[in-house]
Amino acid sequence: MLTDEERQWQDTVQRYMDRNVRPIVAEMEKAGRPPAALLKDMGEQGLLGSFAPEEYGGGGGSLMTRAILAEETARVDAGLDATLFVNISLVARHLIRHGTEAQKRKYLVPLLGGTASASICLTEPHGGSNALSPKTVGRRDGDGWVINGSKTFITNAPIADFFMVFARTSGEDRRAHGGTCFIVDRDATGLSTGKPFDKLSLRSSPTGEVFLDNVRVSDDQILGEVDKGFYYMLEGLDLERVFEGASNTGIAQACLDLAVSYSSEREVFGQRLSEYQMTQDKIARMAMGVEMSRVMFYHLVRAVENGEDVTRAAAVLKLYSSEAAVEASREVVQILGGYGLMEEYPAARLYRDAKHHEIGAGTSEIQKIIIAKQTYEKARPAH
Ligand SMILES: Cc1cc2nc3c(=O)[nH]c(=O)nc-3n(C[C@H](O)[C@H](O)[C@H](O)COP(=O)(O)OP(=O)(O)OC[C@H]3O[C@@H](n4cnc5c(N)ncnc54)[C@H](O)[C@@H]3O)c2cc1C
Repeated sequence: MLTDEERQWQDTVQRYMDRNVRPIVAEMEKAGRPPAALLKDMGEQGLLGSFAPEEYGGGGGSLMTRAILAEETARVDAGLDATLFVNISLVARHLIRHGTEAQKRKYLVPLLGGTASASICLTEPHGGSNALSPKTVGRRDGDGWVINGSKTFITNAPIADFFMVFARTSGEDRRAHGGTCFIVDRDATGLSTGKPFDKLSLRSSPTGEVFLDNVRVSDDQILGEVDKGFYYMLEGLDLERVFEGASNTGIAQACLDLAVSYSSEREVFGQRLSEYQMTQDKIARMAMGVEMSRVMFYHLVRAVENGEDVTRAAAVLKLYSSEAAVEASREVVQILGGYGLMEEYPAARLYRDAKHHEIGAGTSEIQKIIIAKQTYEKARPAH
């Protein structure tokens, strides 16, 4: 399913991750963020903007190159993958699709070059699943806008150079019309961020709150058009779920890699663990989750490239692949026994990180609601 170029890209990314990222994962988790020098180097090596237009420093490649990067990054460190997911899969893609030329020069070029980070600010303390009900508001004031509100669980908030803030500017609660996406610089008066959260998962990716207290922005800080922000958010969701599927595949693959190598070495009651059928059952189930997730995300990236509607299938992928990653992470901890609970092996980190993907970017319950709704809508009468 991959072209020759995409396979070469996959080899390049795997080599980069093994050489430059794997040795510093523990250090990044301790620091609570990826080193700025790593992001800059990834930008210089062309790893961040592989699919973006060349005139902004991108590589002009396929969407598959981005999905491959997500899988291979998450295979080594799901935290780094989360930071890049926001910078590239969300913020850079919004800028490419809806940014003005000036916004692309100011914000997109440094993002792709790895010299800037950014945040997407949707979730609020009163809830994240109901994303169309923000209490954050943008109000017309003279020739500009004033934004008030607060956001929470925001990836990259502690390190972001700028923030894409979704606020209601008109219309009714729970309606897509009337949401506007403002691009707010970190040094804007009235914008502040909280302390990084101490959290279970994705410890190398900083997460925090964002407070907006009478933040003034001009018209040229609006992404696209006034009142259209939620449409931009919604139209990007399918591809985001496909990229999430790639990340989940990477986590599940990392669990399988470790489970195979450990069980091939460890002897219990005079036999290698790999020789016991109960271990083989675990390995087979983990391999099934990896293969099914990967085939599905490859297929859906191509479908998105062909302009097909993948809403239901992308929700199935997000749900299935996150469950497969969580199951794989549980099994790898089990196979390692006591060592599975020790931080000296990656199993404990994989167990923590996998769980995030049943919650972030739309919980499993929300995916089930989408799948069930579309299944009823598309059902043919039974005979
Ligand atoms: C590490 C991390 C990073 C994040 N990064 C970002 C970010 O960068 N930007 C951003 O905007 N947000 C971010 N989020 C927020 C994330 O998107 C939300 O946590 C998620 O959407 C769920 O929202 P919530 O936590 O408010 O839970 P709620 O919406 O309060 O949901 C709580 C529970 O209720 C369930 N539930 C909700 N509705 C229904 C229903 N109709 N039927 C049945 N059950 C339901 C949910 O599935 C969940 O189990 C991040 C979260 C985490 C943990």
